[in-house]
Amino acid sequence: MQAKKRIRWVLLLVSISLLPVSASVIYPVPRQLEITDDQYFSLDSVYVGCPDAEAASWVRKHLKEWYGKSSPVVCVLPTGKGAQMGKEEYALRTEPRRTTLQASTLQGIRYAAYSLRQIAIPERGTKRVEGWIVPKADVQDKPELSFRGIHICWFHESQPWQIERMIRLAAYYKLNYAVIESWGTFRSKTAPWYGWPDGTMKHKEIKRLKAIADDLGITLIPQLNVFGHATCSRSISGKHATMDLSPEYQNLFEPVEGWNWCLTNPATRQLLCSLIDEMHEAFGNPPYFHLGCDEAQEPSCPTCKARPYSEIVIDHIKAMNEEVRKRGARSMVWHDMFLQQTDERWNGFYHNGSPETAAALLKFPKDIIICDWFYGDACGAYPTMDYFKGLGFSVLACPWDNVGGIRAQTEYAQTHGIDGVLGTTWHHYFGQSMVDIYVWLANSVWHRSPNNDLNLPNNGSHFRTHLRQIGWDMKLKDPKKTGILVNEVPLEPTPIPFQ
Ligand SMILES: [Zn+2]
Repeated sequence: MQAKKRIRWVLLLVSISLLPVSASVIYPVPRQLEITDDQYFSLDSVYVGCPDAEAASWVRKHLKEWYGKSSPVVCVLPTGKGAQMGKEEYALRTEPRRTTLQASTLQGIRYAAYSLRQIAIPERGTKRVEGWIVPKADVQDKPELSFRGIHICWFHESQPWQIERMIRLAAYYKLNYAVIESWGTFRSKTAPWYGWPDGTMKHKEIKRLKAIADDLGITLIPQLNVFGHATCSRSISGKHATMDLSPEYQNLFEPVEGWNWCLTNPATRQLLCSLIDEMHEAFGNPPYFHLGCDEAQEPSCPTCKARPYSEIVIDHIKAMNEEVRKRGARSMVWHDMFLQQTDERWNGFYHNGSPETAAALLKFPKDIIICDWFYGDACGAYPTMDYFKGLGFSVLACPWDNVGGIRAQTEYAQTHGIDGVLGTTWHHYFGQSMVDIYVWLANSVWHRSPNNDLNLPNNGSHFRTHLRQIGWDMKLKDPKKTGILVNEVPLEPTPIPFQ
């Protein structure tokens, strides 16, 4: 019996190793895709057809960055077909001695170039790279959703290179927004005592990342938690990014744990407005600002308790939204505090609100965007998203790393008029979670099912190849900064739950 089992395993391993491996995979997998591994052409010349005058120089610059001395010649084409295409649509065609990229915008040309990079491999048979080859390909694609975002946490332990790598990867996989949650790492010039004193989210670092993001075609959106999560630390750590080291400012927070901001203290509002202004400006005044607002607790201070809770929440959120609106942007909030915990309609979904916070939602300005987070496949029904849409809000579906959830929520967004998808990563920006989030998010937001059901080659091999290319762009030389894990042997064998 044991011997039979062993034979079966050996056969299984052999059959896995004999599966055909293709170097010609593009993420997101394009809806129109003719590509063959049987015929390769030399990547000598790239022709760019686009009405945007910057497009050819963008391609020239990045091909030089990617291929160095072996970089192909870049020529400008009459716009032709490109001019007729949608805003983010692109076409890529390879022929003997000629590769063509076409789009109506620079963004479309970026996407064509990213797809080209994913299928180009070094010319074979030499010790060092001497040139590049591409398979015969005819590709055309356009995204199903116009808001395709990813939420990235900048923790105390996060290093700027990690944040940069995640932003670059999101752009490479044709997402167009990245929310950066500050977790006490933002170094305020006006309130230097706020947050961790050694936080790495400095103004100059934000400026550097924004320049990279702008160049690669992804808009960065700052996030500041203005309601709960005021500790700017995971609750499991018991830390408070401000109160632990600057107790003189504890009046700004509720006395129990300091998890919430004290919403009736005028100094709290003044500080938060000034942080919104400073952070929004540091990020170059993007069209959105995320205010957090998840997992808040009931107030514990006598001043807050003396007023109706619903009234305090409405006043506060309106004031925060007004500050964002004054700057020409729209606010985003997480959804869970605005669904009542005891309301059976939301059973199976995240609903952490009280009757007061749920009632407050009904008086919020409708320009606030509700980010509805959920981490599983709800089998085709998402009543929470429908509820917010029915009230007149714009809604983003926010999956995490569950593949079924990413696919189902995205498909629901595409088929039920939801405004976009904001994938979340939390503290899972390593390992298989990272692979699943990026690969499935990118593929799902670009295509509606059944394209979504494509036989996606996702054993991580192509993702790891793409991640390595990003590492080359960043000129990473430290072994710990390569691959999907920092260490080959895990330092913490037991995963820490997220709270
Ligand atoms: Zn209070």
